[in-house]
Amino acid sequence: MGRRAYDCDMSSQRPVQPATERHGTPSGVIDHAAGLLEDARSVRRDLHRWPEVGLDLPKTKDRVLEALDGLPLDITLHKTTSGIAALLTGDKPGPTVMLRGDMDALPMPEDTGLDYASKVDNVMHACGHDTHVAMLAGAARMLSERKSSLPGRVLFMFQPGEEGYGGAEYMLDEGLLDVPPLADGTPSPISAAYAIHITSSMPAGMIGTKGGSVMASSDSFDIVITGKGGHASEPFRTFDPVPVTCEIVQAIQAMVTRRFDIFDPTVVTVTRLVAGTAYNVIPESARIQGTIRAISAKTRSSVHELIQRVADGVATAHGCNAETTVNLGYPVTVNDVPSADFGLDIAEALVGEKQVVRMPNPVMGAEDFSYVLEKLPGAMLFLGGTPHNTDPRTAAPNHSNRVMFEEDAMTTGMALYSSLALRTLGVTLD
Ligand SMILES: [Zn+2]
Ligand SMILES: [Zn+2]
Repeated sequence: MGRRAYDCDMSSQRPVQPATERHGTPSGVIDHAAGLLEDARSVRRDLHRWPEVGLDLPKTKDRVLEALDGLPLDITLHKTTSGIAALLTGDKPGPTVMLRGDMDALPMPEDTGLDYASKVDNVMHACGHDTHVAMLAGAARMLSERKSSLPGRVLFMFQPGEEGYGGAEYMLDEGLLDVPPLADGTPSPISAAYAIHITSSMPAGMIGTKGGSVMASSDSFDIVITGKGGHASEPFRTFDPVPVTCEIVQAIQAMVTRRFDIFDPTVVTVTRLVAGTAYNVIPESARIQGTIRAISAKTRSSVHELIQRVADGVATAHGCNAETTVNLGYPVTVNDVPSADFGLDIAEALVGEKQVVRMPNPVMGAEDFSYVLEKLPGAMLFLGGTPHNTDPRTAAPNHSNRVMFEEDAMTTGMALYSSLALRTLGVTLD
C-alpha cells in the first residue's frame, strides 16, 4: 500500500506524456522565429543606440511603428504616454490574449564597449527592454502571418515607463483592457496576459518562472523624528532625536524578525539617516529613509502599519514625536498558478525540459506588470540572456553599466510569445 501511494504521488507530480504531445511540435514556430532574428536584432540595436527614459519615448515609438508597418493590426496610440496597443484579429472568432513588452531604458552610463552602445549620455538599455520590444514586434509579425487560422485576437502592449514611472497603470487608466467586441458584436474579452523579461543571470534560451508571487512589492518610507534641540553639553534640557533615531533603526529590524512569518518574508532596509549640523549642537529633528519589499499584499500592508507603530512608540518613550510617510511603489507581481504552469509547460515543448526552470523563490525586484496581473490571469516569464561564453553566475546583472544580452535568445523569446498566444487561443503548435 505504501508503495502504491508513493507511485501515485509521483505520477501526480509529473505528467507522463512529453509536453509536445499536449502542445504540438513547435519546430514550425521556432523556424519562423529564427527567420525573424535578423529583423529583431536590427530593431533591438536601433533602440539600444537611442535609448529613452520614462513615459515619453518618441524615437522608440517611431521605431516600433516602423517595425509593425504593413501588418494587419488596429493600432491605438495612447495619449498620456508613448504606449502603443496593437490589436490583431484572427479570421476566426475567439477570445483575446494580451502580450506585453516594456520599452524604456535607465538613466545611467553604458560601459559595454559594444559597437551599438548607447549614443545618449547617461541613458542605457540596461534592463533589456530593447530586446522585449524587438521580440514583441517579431511575435506580432509571426502571428499576423498566421492570421487566417487564428481563432481569436492578440493585443500587443508596448509599454513605456516600467522603470519606476508606472507606465502600465497609465495604459490601464487609458482603457487598454476595454477591447471592442468582434465585428458581429460578440464580446471577446482578454482572457490572459503574458510578459517576458530577459535576464543576463540565466543561460541564453532558458525559460523560468513560478506560480504565485514572482516579484516583490517595492515601497519607500520616510520617518521624521522631532524633539527639542539644544547645547550638546546639556542633553537633559533637550529631547535629543539622535539616539531615538538609532533605536528606531534597531527596532525596525527586530520588528522584521519578530512580527513576520519567515515563509512570508519582508525586507526593510534603512538606506539614509540625516541628523545634525555640528559636533556641539543637538538638532531638533532627524530623518530615516529606506525601502520595503514584500511578496504578499498582507505582509506589505502590515509592514506599513508596524513601521509607523514602532517609530511612534520609540519616539514617544523618549519625549519625541515621529511622523512616518510610506510612498507606495509597485505592488507584488503575482502569477496566476495555472497560467504560470501553462507557460512552463509550453516552454518545455519549445526548448525541452532541461532548459526550463521552475523557480523556487520570487525575485525581490519589482515590476509594474503587477498592475496587469491584478486585473487579468496571466504570468510573467523570465528568458535567459547570458551572452555565449559567459558564466551566468558572474555575468554583469540587469541594471549594470556593463550588462550584455545574448541576442540569439530572442529567437526563443519570439517563439515563446507566439506560442503563449497560440496555445491560449487553442491552436496546436506546428
Ligand atoms: Zn529594470
Ligand atoms: Zn526590466
